[in-house]
Amino acid sequence: MSIFSKIAEGEIPSYKCAENEEFYAFLDINPLVKGHTLVIPRREVDYIFDLEDDELARYQVFAKKVAKAIKAAFPCIKVAQVVLGLEVPHAHIHLIPMQSEKDVNFSNEKLSLPAEEMQAIADKIYAEFCK
Ligand code: AMP
Repeated sequence: MSIFSKIAEGEIPSYKCAENEEFYAFLDINPLVKGHTLVIPRREVDYIFDLEDDELARYQVFAKKVAKAIKAAFPCIKVAQVVLGLEVPHAHIHLIPMQSEKDVNFSNEKLSLPAEEMQAIADKIYAEFCK
């Protein structure tokens, strides 16, 4: 089972931002900016473009709802969507609230936020997602 499957199953803790029966969203543990969120399919597929067409469409619609929640919780110019997948072999969309393109540079030093702050960020996004 991939580390992200274990997260979606609750076997490994995460800062939950949103979920439904097919998809799960949680804070990136080393965020580029506050509100940097990962969205995954519960089904374990490494490469995003190996998802079935219908599943990919539902995944994108779910990510759109999460992006709206992030933008409401953390006002920004736009929420960037990035897919890399070089580190963890389980498809994941990065959603990053950005004030400029510099916020989406993966070479930047990552933030290391205290657990209470991470929880507060996730709770804020989750509350917006549930509205
Ligand atoms: P990539 O596969 O290149 O898109 O990068 C994987 C991303 O997952 C990185 O931004 C990591 O910080 C993030 N990550 C890895 N493990 C965890 C975890 N246990 N919880 C949250 N984020 C994680």
